Amino acid sequence: MAQTKILLDENEIPTHWYNVVADMPNAPAAVLGPDGKPITPDALAAIFPMSLIEQEVSAERWIPIPDKVREIYQLWRPSPMFRAHRLEQMLGTPAKIYYKYEGVSPAGSHKPNSAIAQAYYNKEAGIRRLVTETGAGQWGSSLALAGQMFDMEVRIYMVKVSYEQKPFRRSMMQTWGAEVFASPTNMTNAGRSVLEKDPTNPGSLGSASSEAVEEAASRADTNSALGSVLNHVILHQSVIGLEATKQFEKVGDYPDMIFAPCGGGSNFGGAAFPFFADKAAGKNVRLVAVEPSSCPTLTRGHYAYDFGDSVGMTPLLKMYTLGHDFMPPSIHAGGLRYHGDNALVSQLYNEGLIEAVAVPQVATFEAGVQFARTEGIIPAPESCHAIRACIDEALRCKESGEAKTLFFNLSGHGHFDMASYDKYFAGELEDYAYPEEAIRQALDHLPKVG
Ligand SMILES: *Cc1c(COP(=O)(O)O)cnc(C)c1O
Repeated sequence: MAQTKILLDENEIPTHWYNVVADMPNAPAAVLGPDGKPITPDALAAIFPMSLIEQEVSAERWIPIPDKVREIYQLWRPSPMFRAHRLEQMLGTPAKIYYKYEGVSPAGSHKPNSAIAQAYYNKEAGIRRLVTETGAGQWGSSLALAGQMFDMEVRIYMVKVSYEQKPFRRSMMQTWGAEVFASPTNMTNAGRSVLEKDPTNPGSLGSASSEAVEEAASRADTNSALGSVLNHVILHQSVIGLEATKQFEKVGDYPDMIFAPCGGGSNFGGAAFPFFADKAAGKNVRLVAVEPSSCPTLTRGHYAYDFGDSVGMTPLLKMYTLGHDFMPPSIHAGGLRYHGDNALVSQLYNEGLIEAVAVPQVATFEAGVQFARTEGIIPAPESCHAIRACIDEALRCKESGEAKTLFFNLSGHGHFDMASYDKYFAGELEDYAYPEEAIRQALDHLPKVG
C-alpha cells in the first residue's frame, strides 16, 4: 500500500525555530521611524515584549523554542504531511504532490504556531492583556486560544465585514474567553477618524490594526500581537517547514517546488524558508508565494517604504505594497487582503530568490472543490490559492511529462467559510483584477523617505 500520511513523533517537534536572515545574501533593510531614521528596539517596546523585539531583528540561524510552547504545540503538532495520491490520479499528472496540513490546530489554521509563542513571551514579560486585529477571524481565534492557555485577557478588533459574514468565528473567540468588537469602532481615535470619513466603512485589516496598536500603546498592562507580516511571526511559523523537511526525509523525497498562500507572508515563510537554507547551499528548489489577483501585492505592488497599518502609526517597513490606504475588494479569502507583505519575503522576492504568482478568485474555489472531492479536506479559501498554483504546475507536468515533486502548505480548513463556497456554487463569485490606475495612485500616497 502506498504511503499516504507521513507522520512524526511528538518528540520530533522542532526544538529551535529557523531564522532565514542567517542565510540571506544581504542584511535586511532597516525599519525606519517617522523621521526616516532607523528605529531603535525601544521604539517598539510600548507594544511588544523585548524578547519578541530581539527575535524581530535577530540574525541567529536557530532560536530555541521554550519548553512551555513546545508542550502546547503537542496538542496538534507535529502536523501531518500527506501524499495527494487521489488528486494526482484525478489530474493524470506524473508529478508527485505532497501537502502539509495545518488545519489540525484547535483554531483550524497555522496561526496558533505564533499566537502561542507570542502569548508566552508577553506573559513572561508581565503583560496581562493582549489586543489584536483580525480579518476572517483565523488570527483572532488563534490569539483567543493562546490567551486562554496562558490565563491572559484578549481583546479583538474584527474587521466589520467579516464580523458580519463570519458570526461563528466570533463565537469561537468568545468560547476561548476573548472580547470581540466590529472594527472600525468608536473606542479609539483611529476608529473614529475612519468613521468620520465614511460611517459605512466595512473595515480593513489595516484600520483594525491601527485600533489595536493605539490601545496597546496607551496601556502599560497591554501589548499588541500580530498574526503575520512581522519577522518574529515568520520565525515561529518555521515549525511548518522544519517538520516538512523531516517528513520528506522519511519518504526519501525532496520538493522541486513549494507553494503557499501569501497574505502577510507568515505561512509562506514558515513553510518555505526552512528549505531556503538548502537553496542557499546550492540546492535547486523553487519557493512560490501565491496571492489573489485582487490583492496582488508582490506581483504588481511597489517595493518601497510604507506603513504597516492604514492610519500610519507603525514604523516604516521596506516591502511590496499596494499603499497603506489600499481598500481591498471584499474577496472571500479574508486572510489575504493585506496591503503589504513581510519585509524578508519582499526582499528575497526583489532579489529574485523566491517567486510569486497571482491567481483569480473563481479558479481558486474550483481548485479547492477539486481538492475536497479527491483528498477529502475542505480547504480554507486562502489555502485554495496554493492548491490552484500547485494544480496548474501539476497540469504543466502532465503536458511536459515531467515527474516533479510538488509541495504545498494547506494552511487551514474551510469549515467556517462555507458561505463563500455557497456563493461559488451559486455562480455569484467574480474575478476582480486590481485596477492599474489604483496601483499607480498608491505611489503618490507612499510616505516620503530620504
Ligand atoms: C491568515 C491565513 C493565511 C494567510 O496569512 P499569512 O500571513 O500569509 O500566513 C493563509 N491561510 C489561512 C488559513 C489563514 O488563516
